Amino acid sequence: MSAVLATVLEDERPWRQYICRACGYVYDEQDGDRDGGLAPGTRYEDIPDDWACPLCGVSKQDFDPYDGPSSGPVPIRPVTQVPSVSRNRKGVVIVGGGLAGWSTARALRAKDPHIPITLIAGDSADVYPKPALSLAFGHRKSANDLIASFGPDVADDLSVRLVPHAFATAIDAPRKRIRTTRGSFDYDALVLAMGARPVDAKTLPADLCWRINALDTWTRLHAVLARGPARITVIGAGLVGCELADDLAHAEHTVTILDPASRPLAAWSSVEESQRLLDGWTKLGVRFVPSSSIVRVERRSIGGRSVTVINCDDCSFHDADVVIAAIGLCIDTRLAKTAGVAIDTGIVVDASTLATSVPAIYAAGDCVSIAGKPCRFIEPIARQAEAIASAILEQPIAAAVFKAPLVRLKTRSAPMTLTGPR
Ligand code: FE
Repeated sequence: MSAVLATVLEDERPWRQYICRACGYVYDEQDGDRDGGLAPGTRYEDIPDDWACPLCGVSKQDFDPYDGPSSGPVPIRPVTQVPSVSRNRKGVVIVGGGLAGWSTARALRAKDPHIPITLIAGDSADVYPKPALSLAFGHRKSANDLIASFGPDVADDLSVRLVPHAFATAIDAPRKRIRTTRGSFDYDALVLAMGARPVDAKTLPADLCWRINALDTWTRLHAVLARGPARITVIGAGLVGCELADDLAHAEHTVTILDPASRPLAAWSSVEESQRLLDGWTKLGVRFVPSSSIVRVERRSIGGRSVTVINCDDCSFHDADVVIAAIGLCIDTRLAKTAGVAIDTGIVVDASTLATSVPAIYAAGDCVSIAGKPCRFIEPIARQAEAIASAILEQPIAAAVFKAPLVRLKTRSAPMTLTGPR
């Protein structure tokens, strides 16, 4: 074959996508990465070795081929006829409008153009890359900058009946019916993709302590911080706490971070890595307070100014304009329990089919538990969605390939790749 012909044939290959194993960013060859110097149409193999993931900074070697939904814009088609739920085929109801929910909808639609799909979301179900929430203040992004596509557009593109701003309250598993704040829906198969939520703690009341795990709360905090530089205290120096502290300091806020441990990332990194982060923070002006055990958070007026005061058990206290709690994630088990679904650290699923203990109910994404452990990583979600779609449609299921996830700390002061909890 001549070189010219080979080039022409090569150009006719379909565009492919690759997902960052550390943060879930999807590189689409068709779109390229203009900010990173890659023109639209840059093939994966032509990406230079020194290119870095625009979200987290790992190299192209840490990207895997990806068949899931793009984080980029979804083409908007004229309004299509959304399949009505026929008496014979109730179809699939998906609970959750995040990456796992939309990935499942897309995998189902790719395999079956006619199956009715209903997606119930607690918010507007807009599509955005969640890891970007840890970088967006420092990069001066707005909520609109973060939204890749609007929920109704994606729903239209996939012929999905979207029920936004609805909360699922109970599942009647024998009758295959789910009750929500916007009516009840019958299903042939149900997919729970509700994600995880920040941990509550009595000492960190929700009205005084922000929890940033979704675009809606991020947007509200963004509005508050738009008033000008603030004194911010972050509680918890785990992955999310460290990333937020670093990001907020890059946005010129004065940041203090408290943790019960003697160093940041104590559960994740070596002493040397923690020190590298602390050195970066010294230059950035982030103050880390070790061995902090909080007994009470309260609102007080100091010098005529309303501030939030964090009281520690050694009688020290810290006052701040804004307090952010980043003490971990958990899942809301109430809905799954109404169906009698088995739960341990998450909704227990079969690793190959993502089936729960209750027939016709599946689960995907941050809410699942596999072999007793939560599985809160972005990279496996496309494969989970594919497996669920195959199981529901009774098609052969490709064996899932498990790779230990990369954990990339997106702190600009000291970016690092971690190998998992120590
Ligand atoms: Fe990345």
